[in-house]
Amino acid sequence: MIGSSVVVWTRSWTVLLGGLFFGLLTTASPAAFAAECPGHPDALGTSRTLVVDPREHPRIGTMQYRETLPLKDHEVVLTFDDGPLPKYSNQVLQILADECIKATFFIIGEQAKANPEGVRKLVAAGHTVGTHSMTHPLTMDRMPLDKAEAQINGGIEWTSAAMTDPSKLAPFFRIPGLMRADGVENHLISRGIQVWSADFPADDWRHVSPDRVYQLAIQRLEAKGKGILLLHDIQPRTVAALPKIIRDLKARGYRIVNVVPATADQPATPTTSVEWLLHPPTETTPIARWPVVPNFVFAQTAAMPAPGLADLNAQTAHEHVVLPHKTMAQADVASTLPAPGRDLFAIPEGSVEVLLSTTLSRRAATRLAMAAETPRAGKGKAGKIQAQRTARAAHAAPKHAAQAKTQAKTQAKGTAPRPTRVATSVKKRA
Ligand SMILES: [Zn+2]
Repeated sequence: MIGSSVVVWTRSWTVLLGGLFFGLLTTASPAAFAAECPGHPDALGTSRTLVVDPREHPRIGTMQYRETLPLKDHEVVLTFDDGPLPKYSNQVLQILADECIKATFFIIGEQAKANPEGVRKLVAAGHTVGTHSMTHPLTMDRMPLDKAEAQINGGIEWTSAAMTDPSKLAPFFRIPGLMRADGVENHLISRGIQVWSADFPADDWRHVSPDRVYQLAIQRLEAKGKGILLLHDIQPRTVAALPKIIRDLKARGYRIVNVVPATADQPATPTTSVEWLLHPPTETTPIARWPVVPNFVFAQTAAMPAPGLADLNAQTAHEHVVLPHKTMAQADVASTLPAPGRDLFAIPEGSVEVLLSTTLSRRAATRLAMAAETPRAGKGKAGKIQAQRTARAAHAAPKHAAQAKTQAKTQAKGTAPRPTRVATSVKKRA
């Protein structure tokens, strides 16, 4: 059972001091990790190990969530999805070994079933292993929960079955295609499994060159300054791009962080909640100390959510400076307010608002007007105008002029054009 390996820690001085001591032990100097990578003096290495408690921060990755891993500036976590696939996964493993880099791998159950040795190699090399469903469906956002649960369980069962020691499986899950949904996330979280999105991808699943993968990885990392990079160890372009990415990370002063789950023997690295934001506000950010505009949820109900208490608290308001992709208010909303009546939004006909309305709404208004005209479209002025327009259009295409004229006459008479002619022509083309 995956959840049982995660212990909910009661904060005590012992735990805090223990964690601090562990943190100091794992924060080595650059010289130290070069020494730990025999035969590779220029290796990038792994600068530290970050121990996380999935229950304290259940969703991470700013591509979708408010929080991400508590990384310092220029710290990077490498993640690889969809393996193991021996042909490419083994090459990725070798590249990482040559650089003494520890990464996190999200395994597909079917891949583990087909290549259990590949999973054992990851564990033996000291990488962190999480899961990524059984068959990688891209429909987990609209899948019934029992099916989603079967996907999650299949991935966990086959990945842990491939391991010599199943307790090595980390309670980390990445939803295939990042197709998140509240139900799936809540299910994972209830089992103590951390939902991993990412901070930036490098588009290595797309048909782009290895050089493009390298460029995107570095450009997107530089834009955020730190974070979780999403890669795939089943792609030849990733294998080709990876050495260049690593060399450039080293040249630009980035450091690799290894992430592992907290256990009874290994408490979570002490952090503050602000560190789980990509760019925590500083003292020089005045807005951070003032209440922010509350986050609302536009739910399909007759009631509107009220701001959470946290939104109005100056001390915690800074946490809302980073805009989440997920509707965080769903979690924060404590109560609801009645929705205003529809009349409040009604715009009087012919008013300035109507004149200033968007093209879209004008088109909608035109359609409504035309629909109202339809019953008498065949007769009178409207019918004639329509016939004239059709005839003019026919001039633009001389080949079908005769046909168009017939059609115009037919429309003017108020009867629908016979579809048989079109059907014949389509048949001829096919
Ligand atoms: Zn995937």
